[in-house]
Amino acid sequence: MVAMGGSVSLAQSGAQGAAALTVIRAGALIDGLTESVQKNRLIFVRGERIEKVADSAATIPAGAKVIDLSNAMVLPGLIDAHTHIFLWGEDPAKGGYDANILKAGIALRAARATYAAKRALEQGFVALRDLETEGAGYGDIEIKQAIEEGTIPGPRIFGATRAISTTGGYNLEDYAPELEMPKGAQLVDGPVEARKAARQQLEHGADWIKVYMTHRSWVNKQGNLVSQPTLTVEELKAIVDEAHGWQKKVACHAYNGIGLQRALDGGCDSIEHGLEITDAQIAQMQRQGTWYCPTLSPYYNDWAPADTPAGKRDRARAALHEISFKKALRAHLKIVYGTDMGGIPWTEPIAQEFKRMVSLGMTPMDAIESATSRAAEMLDMKGEIGVIATGAYAEVIAMAGDPLKDAGELEHVRFVMHNGAIFKNEFAK
Ligand SMILES: [Zn+2]
Repeated sequence: MVAMGGSVSLAQSGAQGAAALTVIRAGALIDGLTESVQKNRLIFVRGERIEKVADSAATIPAGAKVIDLSNAMVLPGLIDAHTHIFLWGEDPAKGGYDANILKAGIALRAARATYAAKRALEQGFVALRDLETEGAGYGDIEIKQAIEEGTIPGPRIFGATRAISTTGGYNLEDYAPELEMPKGAQLVDGPVEARKAARQQLEHGADWIKVYMTHRSWVNKQGNLVSQPTLTVEELKAIVDEAHGWQKKVACHAYNGIGLQRALDGGCDSIEHGLEITDAQIAQMQRQGTWYCPTLSPYYNDWAPADTPAGKRDRARAALHEISFKKALRAHLKIVYGTDMGGIPWTEPIAQEFKRMVSLGMTPMDAIESATSRAAEMLDMKGEIGVIATGAYAEVIAMAGDPLKDAGELEHVRFVMHNGAIFKNEFAK
């Protein structure tokens, strides 16, 4: 730590080749951990990290660069725990999911992923858990590499690479049976193949393993939502055992029913979507410490007409999801922020999920923590991202309005610092 008192210590640190000091004046600060807003704080940033957070009486050394956010609300950079940088919206009018795989070559897909990464960062999302490339192989790990080497701007990426499902358990499908169609995930049958797929993905840099535990869903004659299960418990256990040995975690896409139960019995670390979670399953998630990433937003968009089978399914999914989310809140499950961006076009606001969570009863502060300190903990980055505190990476965002009064303000991020470097500052104009 540099001593107070100005030019001498600054000269010394310069002589030692230490990085320059930047001091952010935060008029109001949500630090990701403290439940209340702190007024008039100074955030000292040196290099990539936060050196200290002090009150406004602290001395600012001469020569330090000062960023004035005294009229702004300052927060830790946000984390979206469920994205797909290699998806480009699934608008049926534009060919839907299939066109993305059948008509877009890998260079076009990489260019679009590059755009997605930049979009995330400019909206204040400094880290993404990107849960599968949808047929683009290990492209997420290469985009991550391009970001880390400074070739393109983008957030920290925790990539899942190809994802795993079973025969009959993933797109592309409904083509002539004699055609060998490309698939958006790696398909396995049996625990041996399951473990091998996990090993291949981990070998090629997967930070997480993503598994599809349900696939198709529909409303049955009794009016209940049914989801086709995919992997067996034995298959999932092989994957979880392998991933945990590498100290990596497993995210399970699971809507409801048999597949969701197998996900929990197989020991998955996070449930993605979880549209219909029973009380017994909520209790099991509490016992096992399972993370819950609900991704509410995509289930409220683009409903098919009400009188069609798809329309009935779409309405059933949203209705059930709301009930499950409220149950999860009451049970204090570990809820993390996730949007399924990519399924939602990357041109749309990534912060839209905040309003959705708050409208279903989550407090704005809880919603912010789901996208900061709590998501960081799930990513094994506790204290490093998702907080504004000594020693953390300097991931700092700011907005003009108060997100505790209107969660929609999180869609208007006007300052972004990522790894100690200013990516945008509209307050300077
Ligand atoms: Zn997804």
